[in-house]
Amino acid sequence: MSPAPSSPSIAVIGGGPAGLIAAEILGRAGLAVTVYDRMPSLGRKLLMAGRGGLNLTHSEEFERFLACYGEAAPILRPMIEDFRPEDLRAWCEGLGQETFVGSSGRVFPKAFKASPLLRAWLSRLEELGTRFALRQSWQGWDAEGNLVLTGPMGEPLTAKPDATILALGGASWPRLGSDGGWTALLESRGIALSPLRSANMGFLVPWSEVIRSRFEGKPLKRIALTFEGETVRGEAVVTGDGIEGGAVYALSSRLREAIARQGSATLRIDLRPDLSTENLAQRLAAPRKGQSASTFLRKAAGLNPLGIALLREASPALPSEAQRLAALIKAVPLALSGAKSLGRAISTAGGVPFAEVDAHLMLRRMPGVFVAGEMLDWEAPTGGYLLQATFATGVAAAKGVLARLGIPIAALTLGPASATRQS
Ligand SMILES: Cc1cc2nc3c(=O)[nH]c(=O)nc-3n(C[C@H](O)[C@H](O)[C@H](O)COP(=O)(O)OP(=O)(O)OC[C@H]3O[C@@H](n4cnc5c(N)ncnc54)[C@H](O)[C@@H]3O)c2cc1C
Repeated sequence: MSPAPSSPSIAVIGGGPAGLIAAEILGRAGLAVTVYDRMPSLGRKLLMAGRGGLNLTHSEEFERFLACYGEAAPILRPMIEDFRPEDLRAWCEGLGQETFVGSSGRVFPKAFKASPLLRAWLSRLEELGTRFALRQSWQGWDAEGNLVLTGPMGEPLTAKPDATILALGGASWPRLGSDGGWTALLESRGIALSPLRSANMGFLVPWSEVIRSRFEGKPLKRIALTFEGETVRGEAVVTGDGIEGGAVYALSSRLREAIARQGSATLRIDLRPDLSTENLAQRLAAPRKGQSASTFLRKAAGLNPLGIALLREASPALPSEAQRLAALIKAVPLALSGAKSLGRAISTAGGVPFAEVDAHLMLRRMPGVFVAGEMLDWEAPTGGYLLQATFATGVAAAKGVLARLGIPIAALTLGPASATRQS
């Protein structure tokens, strides 16, 4: 099903989820779409995201869902209202990948990983006539405004599409293709960017040798973390140089800003969030009957060896008084000395500010050039919010291209490619 020879040609640069959903919408509208990517295959970060279970979106009530985008929520609202969590699920199911809601409300494909979904998606795109130009690295524009790319041997290529969508991703996990190299290319065109920063990342902790040697890789389950009055329940993992995991990621933007301001931040770990301090103190007031401190803490407070080691790390001489010991277990201080680098983060904050694009995500300074996905300046916690906004902005940019070219935007139906082609 190739586009008609007279169809407008569109360059989508970056074949991650933002670029691919834009390509799908434009292909469905009958446009001649080429997806350029510097890597030998598409969607590498999406595949990586699927390693631990592809958390596509979240099933919570819409306003709560939207609030997770913080300052960017009002700007993302119309885009996410236009491509909602249930639309993302329907799209995934349309590709033969049933979804389910996990106990936390997060939505996953039943296959859990991303590879079956990506395979089905790429074959749908092929059916729509999408051209894939792989190992093509975008280098900016030449003096005539043509796109400039280089192939695997550095050979140059230029293209003059009717519109361009940049969907180059953030700068985490650069070996998967997105390394933030596009920042210099956009800045050279006068676009003021917000600096790229780690989001949903771990933090550095100057652990003692005891923690490092005995507990690296060990999980802290069913804990609660508190920072600046915000408490998150969940899990974390001790790494050789710090701490990672869902509960840490959820507080990561606040922690990152505090460390940027004051050089360090102290996180509080509640090792027994299910017990009140009073209840814990009562248990700890029981006679020790000659038990070692570790055995007593294990039996009376239900702490595991890692929890006990963290208590000792925070307070080598443990309080003997039950109330004070209970208070410590409910708020173990953990000094964070820095944020882990962007290369190791799950996602990227910063990028193209919304002030630089119009309501269709077209760069104000570069008519005909649209931006989608993680390269836009929004951030969100893990939980499916990253992919939802990535998809929604990809859809919005594609619709922006259609509006600019004066092509009617049909209601978005995401069934088989052959069923929804407009022209
Ligand atoms: C380990 C991990 C787990 C994750 N798990 C989840 C999850 O479960 N749920 C969730 O919502 N999100 C998750 N994410 C985040 C999610 O994967 C990203 O937010 C999403 O992939 C961003 O999509 P994108 O299309 O904007 O960018 P990307 O997926 O990064 O795609 C950008 C593409 O642009 C290409 N590119 C970059 N520069 C150039 C250039 N100069 N020339 C040509 N091509 C270029 C890259 O090769 C890449 O293919 C996870 C991320 C990581 C790292």
